[in-house]
Amino acid sequence: MTADLRAMTLDQAEAFALAQGWPRFRGEQVWRWVHDRGVRTFAEMTNLSAANRDAVAAVATLGGLTLAEAQVGKDGTRKLRFVTHDGSSIESVLIPDADRDGKTTICISSQVGCAVDCQFCATGKLGLKRNLDTSEIVDQVYLSKRLLAEAAPERRLTNIVYMGMGEPLHNYDNLVQSLRILTHDKGAGFSPRRITVSTAGLVPKLERLGGEDVRPNLAVSLNAPNDAIRDLIMPINRKWNIAALLAALRAYPLAERRWITFEYVLLAGVNDSVGHAGELARLLRGMKAKVNIIPWNPHPEAPYERPTAAAIDAFQNECKRLGFPTYLRTPRGDDIDAACGQLANRSNGEAIVPLRIRRTGPPPPPPVD
Ligand code: SAH
Ligand code: SF4
Repeated sequence: MTADLRAMTLDQAEAFALAQGWPRFRGEQVWRWVHDRGVRTFAEMTNLSAANRDAVAAVATLGGLTLAEAQVGKDGTRKLRFVTHDGSSIESVLIPDADRDGKTTICISSQVGCAVDCQFCATGKLGLKRNLDTSEIVDQVYLSKRLLAEAAPERRLTNIVYMGMGEPLHNYDNLVQSLRILTHDKGAGFSPRRITVSTAGLVPKLERLGGEDVRPNLAVSLNAPNDAIRDLIMPINRKWNIAALLAALRAYPLAERRWITFEYVLLAGVNDSVGHAGELARLLRGMKAKVNIIPWNPHPEAPYERPTAAAIDAFQNECKRLGFPTYLRTPRGDDIDAACGQLANRSNGEAIVPLRIRRTGPPPPPPVD
């Protein structure tokens, strides 16, 4: 039975080293190679003797993913397709900050598919295949960092959002383990303030997350101003309705100067009127809430339409007028199906292609391998 070093916290790696009869520092040594330096093989752990490297390789593995494909959109967004050890594809999206300051966000997946079945979401239409394990979650960050260093060295990975495929709170233990690993200052060292977990609103798990030692920012896919509409577009609302969800969020121990982001997918004729904006504002009154409007990104599996620019404007202005910081999430990478809710492994099932970068607009990327 071998143990996966990429899925361990530093404490666990040290305990593992001791259990093998090695000195404790050997645990930290190998852990840092994996989680700080991002090596892919034991052979790269050059401050261990060959004999020690062999001893580690005999009892430990480095789980994770294989980068199979990277597509670059016109706006510089990169959609990455990874393949798991059992042949599933999952996707992450690297999103350059619009401010040209080099900051870059990685949007990562937590599951292969999703069981929540929101009616507007392409990932939901896949159903759930399985949870990602911890190493598959953190490896999206590590492999993206490497790709960014090669393909766009002027940029740096600064933020992580769990907004890709899947419902992170349905994969709770691996979510929390990945947060512990990614925030450790001897590893990747992301501040929890730079990590956001987006959820459809699993109330008991939200309550549990509030009690954890690492607490990320929260984004909540509300998407409707009342239960009647939310019941229709998000079946999970029949289990935990808006009142239950907002009560859990009001109790969530937010860090100072932190706000909860409410995501609101705008669907033409469903939830996008100025009256709906007013209802939404009444719901959120008194909360440290900001509203993130996401005009629906089309995909073939759902019968909705994106509202007109005028309707989007009117909705946003009404939310602002009623006192909520309101942002419009402009579709990033929609030319490569990388925008919110479009992650559906359109190449799933195909033979795995060697890593290539496809670009749909200028300028051409530097080679990555
Ligand atoms: N499962 C989590 C995180 C992944 S979904 C969640 O639901 O929060 C990330 C975001 O994409 C959610 O806010 C969801 O409401 C939104 N989304 C899903 N499908 C979409 C689509 N077709 N267009 C725009 N946003 C969509
Ligand atoms: Fe799952 Fe989120 Fe899509 Fe809903 S919106 S089906 S929770 S990925």
